[in-house]
Amino acid sequence: MSFQFTAEQLARLRDLEAKAQELDLTFEEADLRDQTFLRLQKRLTGQARQKLEEIFQSGGRPLVESLSQKISDQLVALGMIQVSTPIIMSRSRLSRMFSDDHPLPEEQVFWLDQKRCLRPMLAPHLYEYMLDLSRLRAERPFAVFEIGPCFRKESQGSKHASEFTMLNLVEVGLKAQERQGRLLQLAGEIFGQIGLEGWRVERVDSTVYGQTVDLVDHSGLELASCSMGPHPLDAKWGFSGTWLGLGFGLERLAMSLAGLDRLSPVARGFGRLLGLPLNI
Ligand code: ATP
Ligand code: MG
Repeated sequence: MSFQFTAEQLARLRDLEAKAQELDLTFEEADLRDQTFLRLQKRLTGQARQKLEEIFQSGGRPLVESLSQKISDQLVALGMIQVSTPIIMSRSRLSRMFSDDHPLPEEQVFWLDQKRCLRPMLAPHLYEYMLDLSRLRAERPFAVFEIGPCFRKESQGSKHASEFTMLNLVEVGLKAQERQGRLLQLAGEIFGQIGLEGWRVERVDSTVYGQTVDLVDHSGLELASCSMGPHPLDAKWGFSGTWLGLGFGLERLAMSLAGLDRLSPVARGFGRLLGLPLNI
C-alpha cells in the first residue's frame, strides 16, 4: 500500500508554496508520510518567515496592485485615458447589457436594493464615456479604460472570487478592418508589459456580446474577454460607430504569473501579506 499527503496536508503545503514534486511524494507508511510532512512544513515555514522579514525591510504591494499600476501607466503612455466610475451601478444601466435572449442573470448580482447593485462589470459605465466623448471627438479614435473592483455571486471555485479586479478598456473610432489586428496588438503589449508569456486567442460565444474573443493562458485559463462593435446592444445606449473592448481579470493575470492553481492567494483578503500566509 502507498500513502500520499492528506487533503489537509496538501492544502497547507500548497499554501506554503511547496514544489509540485514535493506535493506528489508517495510513502510506504502513513507514519513516514506524517514525519515528512512535519519536516517539510518546518522548512517551508522557515522560508516564509525569511520572506516576511524581507517584506518588513523593503515594503511592498500586492501583485494585483502592482499589475494595476504597471498597466495603467502603460495605457496612459499610449495616449489612453483612465476613468474612475462608481462602484454602485443602476439596474437600468446594467440591464442594457442584456437582451431578451440573454436576460440579466439576477442571481449573480449583489443587489443593494431594487434599483442598484455592486457593479458586476465595468462596460455600462464605459458606454457612458463612449457616448460623451464620441460627441466631443467625432471621427477620431480615442480610448478610455478603468481598473477597479467588480462583484459577482459565483458558485465559488478556485478561479472565481466574489470580489475581483477588472481592467476594461475600450477604443472607439477604429476602422472596422483594423479592429482584429489592434486587439492582438493591445493584448500583446499588455501581456508584454507584465511579462506574461504563452497566452493565446480562443474564439467563444458570450451571453453579453454574441461572438467574443477570449485570451487564455498556457493552461487554458481565461484571462480576458474581448468584443467589438458595431454591436446590437449599442442601440440601447444610442451609440453608433466602431469600437473594440478588452476586459481582463487582474487576479487571473496574477494567478497565471505566479504559477498558482487557485486565485485566493492573490485575491482580496487578509491573513496573507503579498500572498504570503501569516499562519506561520
Ligand atoms: P469565467 O467564464 O471565467 O467565469 P466570464 O467570461 O464570466 O469568466 P467576463 O465577463 O468575460 O467573465 O469578465 C472578464 C474577465 O474578468 C474574465 O476573463 C476573467 O479574467 C475575469 N473574471 C470574471 N469573473 C471573475 C471572478 N468571479 N473572479 C475573478 N476574475 C473574474
Ligand atoms: Mg469571459
